Amino acid sequence: MTQDTKKKPDDADEERKATIKSYRQRFQTYDRLPETGRDREDILAEMQEMASLEEARWREGYASGSVYNGDQEHIDFLNRAYAINSQSNPLHTDLWPSAIKFESEIVSMTAKMLGADKSGAEAGTPEEICGVVSSGGSESIQLAMKSYRDYARDKKGNTEPEMIVPITAHAAFDKASQYFGIKILHIPVADDYRADVAATEKAITDNTIVIVGSAPPFPHGLIDPIEELSELARARGIGFHTDACLGGFVLPWAEKLGYDVPPFDFRLPGVTSMSADTHKFGYAAKGTSVVLYRGHELRHYQYFTTTEWPGGLYCSPSFAGSRPGALSAACWAAMVSIGEQGYMDATRRILEAAAKIKKGIAEIPELQVIGDPLFVIAFESKEMDIYKIMDAMTERGWSLNGLYKPACVHLCTTLRHTQPGVAERLIEDLKASVAYVKANPSTQGRLAPIYGMANTLPDRGVIADMLRNYMDGWYRL
Ligand SMILES: *Cc1c(COP(=O)(O)O)cnc(C)c1O
Repeated sequence: MTQDTKKKPDDADEERKATIKSYRQRFQTYDRLPETGRDREDILAEMQEMASLEEARWREGYASGSVYNGDQEHIDFLNRAYAINSQSNPLHTDLWPSAIKFESEIVSMTAKMLGADKSGAEAGTPEEICGVVSSGGSESIQLAMKSYRDYARDKKGNTEPEMIVPITAHAAFDKASQYFGIKILHIPVADDYRADVAATEKAITDNTIVIVGSAPPFPHGLIDPIEELSELARARGIGFHTDACLGGFVLPWAEKLGYDVPPFDFRLPGVTSMSADTHKFGYAAKGTSVVLYRGHELRHYQYFTTTEWPGGLYCSPSFAGSRPGALSAACWAAMVSIGEQGYMDATRRILEAAAKIKKGIAEIPELQVIGDPLFVIAFESKEMDIYKIMDAMTERGWSLNGLYKPACVHLCTTLRHTQPGVAERLIEDLKASVAYVKANPSTQGRLAPIYGMANTLPDRGVIADMLRNYMDGWYRL
């Protein structure tokens, strides 16, 4: 290791502890229940203080992704929708039929947006595009993978299921592999960073239950060749999942606005399931997503039922039992209040800001944008340590995402970056950060050594241990 990469992972942990400790010094820590309850106003004031400390960064557009809308009037509206429904639990449909109304309409509106009308599957028939509301993108993805596993076991006697997943697909597919005992075959990306179709074809076996593509993937934002991939699946009677968690509420509007959007949704006959996150560009509060299927049969393999429990006949559509109906209510309120025109307008503003940012980065000689993305802009540096540049940006208040393979950094453009001056500030700060790292090549940085190490260290177990340790830290008082 060179002089400037001597920093140990523990150092970052120390820094994290220091940040959390400042909260410990400022606010009371509870390691057990207080003997008597605290004053409500006092509690709310304390929470308000924490929120005020945290909100400037995301509100002023310093964060990649994270808060996708963030307009105060929109937030206030969602909060009211939540408050009205805060006791609602979709598990008890007799008490809250409104929850069923909201969720069935969220699913239908999302399905129509993603090509259900032109899917060749007639609405009102068992073949129609259908789905459920889940708690987030990861749950949507895991639910779909579980459904394919159980479908293949039941229909084809497949007890050794395999899924074919590009390396750029979301970590939730690996999670599904671990949780549900599905072997995952990682497919490389081609020179253009999009899933390699030939490698996918080669990886197909008799045990393949599903092929995955993303529109777009989280890392570089470059939409996979969904049409070709889904045709491979269709020709063999295999499932195909388009992960549109990130792009589901952007791409349909981008297409209408005239941007070059390759086909990715249910208009492709090979696409048998999709995930789309209402809590990202759907502008709902955090905690909702939609998983969609071509046909009721596949959805049935997602459902849980038991008929022998002393607690009664029990069924639930997703992983949770009781669920926050208020989040579905707020999600429905977001969708209905924004409407097609609202989503279209938001998308136009985001893509315009993204184009400005893309151009600005491309004009910095030391940085190179990866591919020609629409709104998730990844960039690398052929000559400098990109993670050090990321650290310098962090010093300037930015929260960008550090990525691997190749070493790069990205910004997911949201409505926060459409505010006047934000794109310009990003470019100015990037220029200043490049200049700083150039002038101070031995700067240690905060995360650069860790990212650098994780990118090169062959023993992945050490890094996994480090991550477990890191999570333990979250729960240490
Ligand atoms: C955000 C995201 C997901 C899942 O995210 P959650 O954090 O679980 O909501 C899945 N796929 C892609 C491409 C994403 O960007």
